Amino acid sequence: MQKIVLASNNAGKLKEFAHLLSPFELQIIAQGELNVPECPEPYGTFVENALAKARHAAKITGLPALADDSGLCVHALGGAPGVYSARYAGEPKSDERNNAKLLTELAGQSDRRAWYYASLVLVRSEHDPQPLIADGVCVGEIAQVAQGAGGFGYDPLFWLPQLNKTVAQITHEEKSQISHRAKALKSLIAKLQETGL
Ligand code: IMP
Repeated sequence: MQKIVLASNNAGKLKEFAHLLSPFELQIIAQGELNVPECPEPYGTFVENALAKARHAAKITGLPALADDSGLCVHALGGAPGVYSARYAGEPKSDERNNAKLLTELAGQSDRRAWYYASLVLVRSEHDPQPLIADGVCVGEIAQVAQGAGGFGYDPLFWLPQLNKTVAQITHEEKSQISHRAKALKSLIAKLQETGL
């Protein structure tokens, strides 16, 4: 079976990718299992950060590597926290403090529109001149209070009007139908089927 290293150490994302890729003949290995250290994400765009992470994992492991960079973008905040989503409330990273900061920033704001964005990059080798690139969006709103215990990150605040629930209140199956990562991965898999590894 073809091995691919997943350039992420985020347990929530690992669970989602494993679930989404389970129908395919790919053995997904988390980079932590191969002792790949965390890669800096210094860029201002999701795609540049995803490419840096994929190249870094491919360089160290010698395997094809899949990386994502994703985040929450809020309309009333000009797209913030964006690429800074993980560290919105500073170091050390904390979902709880990030969510609290988001609610504070949006206090009194009636425009609650937001979207999750994911960029996925697959490189066959460190210097692959033609990385496979795909992206996906999930549109919603920022709730007034956190609800639900599932998911990770901003999910307890990410309200899905069509389901009348936050992402933290839906099942893995439901999230894998609608999530930004799921949509990006579906698009990436279509490209992979066209070009091969
Ligand atoms: P990354 O690991 O640099 O891509 O950071 C992504 C950050 O964006 C996460 O730490 C979360 O704060 C946020 N994020 C991305 N995708 C999701 C999601 O599906 N649910 C909740 N938060 C997310």
